[in-house]
Amino acid sequence: MEIENMVANSALIKAREGGGSRGRSWKWKEMLRFPHISQCADLAMNIERDYHSLCVKQPIGKKLFQLFCRSRPDLQNYISLLDALVISFWIVLKKHGEYAGLGFDHFQRKRHLVVDLHKHLSGEPFIQYQDSMFFDRFLQWKKLERQPISKQLFRQYRLLGKGGFGEVWACQVRATGMMYACKKLEKTHVKKRRGEAMALNEKEILEGLNSRFVVNLAYAYETKHFLCMVLTMMSGGDLRFHIYNVGEPGLHRDRVCFYAAEVCCGLIHLHQKSILYRDLKPENILLDDNGNIRISDLGLAVRLTEGKPVRGRVGTLGYMAPEVIGHEHYGMSADWWGLGCLIYEMTAGQPPFRSRGEHPKALEMEHRIQKQQEEYNHKFSPEVKDLCSLLLTKDPKQRLGCQGLKGREVQSHSFFENIDFRMLEAGLVKPPFKPDPRLVYCSDVHDIEEFSSVKGVTLDQKDNNFYSKFNTGSIPITWQNEMIETGCFRELNIFGPAGTRTPDLDW
Ligand code: ADP
Ligand code: MG
Ligand code: MG
Repeated sequence: MEIENMVANSALIKAREGGGSRGRSWKWKEMLRFPHISQCADLAMNIERDYHSLCVKQPIGKKLFQLFCRSRPDLQNYISLLDALVISFWIVLKKHGEYAGLGFDHFQRKRHLVVDLHKHLSGEPFIQYQDSMFFDRFLQWKKLERQPISKQLFRQYRLLGKGGFGEVWACQVRATGMMYACKKLEKTHVKKRRGEAMALNEKEILEGLNSRFVVNLAYAYETKHFLCMVLTMMSGGDLRFHIYNVGEPGLHRDRVCFYAAEVCCGLIHLHQKSILYRDLKPENILLDDNGNIRISDLGLAVRLTEGKPVRGRVGTLGYMAPEVIGHEHYGMSADWWGLGCLIYEMTAGQPPFRSRGEHPKALEMEHRIQKQQEEYNHKFSPEVKDLCSLLLTKDPKQRLGCQGLKGREVQSHSFFENIDFRMLEAGLVKPPFKPDPRLVYCSDVHDIEEFSSVKGVTLDQKDNNFYSKFNTGSIPITWQNEMIETGCFRELNIFGPAGTRTPDLDW
């Protein structure tokens, strides 16, 4: 048993180290061979000709449009100016942090200039781009992106965790060497427990998001027995593991502050998209190999139509807000309560309404959450205590985060005094803790319970309708980023013998 776990771990560590070009299959160029342009005719007919989507949002589209502009003497200056503006923006940000020194006006002017440049480029240049070889190449990449996805595309490594409907495994794309986590939902389990809507909901919400503070979905596909979501690999383990399994329970103040700030940014991003998360707890907050966190497990998330509140007692009892327990209608307030619980637990090394190892009955828990004042011991500084008690306000109308400022008031709290949120959102803050690349931050393979098989469930045509909604293949932005990050784009995107290299600039 011990040996089995060690073998599984070392295989995973080796794959992680070789992630990127060394992890590619020797047949990788064949796997990513461009289709002939004549095979892209249907795509050319049907693809939506939207400048923002084709030339700004999609990473490969953006690169090819840049290359097109650079190839044109009359457009070179536009693109150089755009790059210069964006670069100077980041450099100033990096050097001085928040808009220091340079007035807000300065940045407003630059922002306007960027908007004007895009306005110009989206006119005549965009039309000409669509007639160029660069756009043909874009269509070829798009065609590759839309290839059907099957499990043969991936290598599978060790089991990372277990969820309600199945397991999460480490995996690697054979063609690119990219590591991901594959969440596999067992079809029979989903059917037996009527989890279809929930599975589809999780997949559809994830595919509409693109935030550095939420796990990204890269592929959604099906096999004979499973529905699979391929997600950003989070090698650093979950916060539950770090709070309880490393040293004394609880985390150092700097880490509490950093993780809380990143979760706060993630929540604000979700709420801006009208998505209420509803499942905030340490085991759903995962660390990547640099030590940044992402929110994961969006199975309980809901999109609020027109901001209308919802009802429903969902979540994990210990972390549910009083208004959720009380069968009331609620909105984003439930997530700010969750953040309060999380900050409390990271600081104290135990959740707010229950001591470690204590398992109160459900009714008792509900009573404590709705009526009892939580206690703060010596581990709480005045700032963190103040923040927790404001977030754990029983009345959602009085709670911090619920005053109509879309969460910005949480970021302004004095506990976050030393956090520069603009830098954080740009990914320019160094995390206070970096996971050890030689360690595997999850339970031993054999400690993760096996999934019991379900008997007496047969799959029929109605199930297939649902599977086909789920089975949509690659998610464009994540897939294109994979091609760029692993170097496959650079190595394959060659035009003729001269072989143009692409500049790595970010708009
Ligand atoms: P469920 O919805 O059933 O709770 P989760 O999405 O929370 O399933 O996944 C179950 C477990 O799998 C997590 O607690 C975590 O240990 C592991 N896990 C999930 N997603 C990832 C990921 N992207 N990277 C690494 N491990 C993950
Ligand atoms: Mg979970
Ligand atoms: Mg879930």
